[in-house]
Amino acid sequence: MRIHRTFEASITNPGQVSDDLDQLGRAASKLWNVGRYYAHEQWDDTGEIPDDGELKSDLKGHERYTDLHSQSSQRVLEELAEAFNGWFRKRRSGESRARPPGYRKRGDSHPRSTVSFKAAGFKHDAQFTRVRLSKGRNLKEHRSDFVLCEYGLRPDVDLSEWDIQQVRAVHKYGEWRLQFVCRTTIDPEPPGEETAGIDLGISNVAALSFGGESILFPGNALKEDEYYFGRKKAKCDDSRSHERLRLDRKRTERRTHFLHTLSKHIVVECVERDVGTIVIGDLGDIRDDENGDSRNWGTHGNLDLHGWAFDRFTSILDYKAEAEGIDVTVESERDTSKTCSACGTKDGDQRVERGLYVCEECDTVANADVNGAENIRRKVTPSPSQDRSNGWLAQPSVHLFDCSEGRFAPREQVVDCKP
Ligand SMILES: [Zn+2]
Repeated sequence: MRIHRTFEASITNPGQVSDDLDQLGRAASKLWNVGRYYAHEQWDDTGEIPDDGELKSDLKGHERYTDLHSQSSQRVLEELAEAFNGWFRKRRSGESRARPPGYRKRGDSHPRSTVSFKAAGFKHDAQFTRVRLSKGRNLKEHRSDFVLCEYGLRPDVDLSEWDIQQVRAVHKYGEWRLQFVCRTTIDPEPPGEETAGIDLGISNVAALSFGGESILFPGNALKEDEYYFGRKKAKCDDSRSHERLRLDRKRTERRTHFLHTLSKHIVVECVERDVGTIVIGDLGDIRDDENGDSRNWGTHGNLDLHGWAFDRFTSILDYKAEAEGIDVTVESERDTSKTCSACGTKDGDQRVERGLYVCEECDTVANADVNGAENIRRKVTPSPSQDRSNGWLAQPSVHLFDCSEGRFAPREQVVDCKP
């Protein structure tokens, strides 16, 4: 989420920069007057006041234009055009006494107008809290090329955390001050304080536990793609043929789409349930977990089965969740498949049959992947109640990837996944 702030700073080396800033501020007033006069002439000739685009293009060859950095001069003429527009608005709304913008002149001298410096016109040095302001070509000759202002800000403001869009030199209270017009992106508020656990696997690519409710995401689409593209590629004779490369690219596109769709779907489900934290199992531990094969990992360490790019999925999920204010943390998966999420009994010999986890101690029957996801969730949020019904552990809802629509559908359905 993008936010804007303007911070005002005092100048801590006024003795070194005030004369230069005076010169720039007066030059801005002179340019304003040039534009004001030109607008008046145009009004007399054509009956129309030029807009800011015309002012800029018609006056950029003027001598006063090159007193300031070109972006600073542009800003002066934009302000003049805005002042005319404000006057038109007042006239239209019936303010008969509204006056057009005037000239900036006091007797023979000029007031110090605000000078704006856009991206190309300033260079900020956060470390030494100073900013270099560019002059126009005309004023460079008899002095230095730029004005180096040292500044002091409120101690709670750190400009290095902000993207500075513009610096303004403003003369007020009898002294020059600097305004930093800033922008930044902030973290959105998390949807709530609930925690969700995710267990990644092969047969189910993800099991999602909210503690009291669970969702399974079967890997049907990935498996079918793998089979389909494997067969197609086998039919290509030349290993570098055009067709083979096309198939590889196509498969990669489909995998990428699957990973984005899955992570987006999970984030949406989490937002609906006020989740502020997603805990995901660290797959690095699987390699060391001798009994961690209960979820059909195949060969230990072979984590790229079915093109299932776990690390990539985690990073995609992370940035999609971050955009919703949800934190993603990675926790060790150690023992999560061997522990009963209902009573906490850890037993290497518990029965896992047809994807079910059966606890010898408390007789809980759970979907093995949901049991893992719930154990991962508990690493961050220990469950407060032991007496809650555990029926949900065995009855996850199943969200299948619908290849024809390219999204996850929240109920079982038969889909033809041929690409
Ligand atoms: Zn148990």
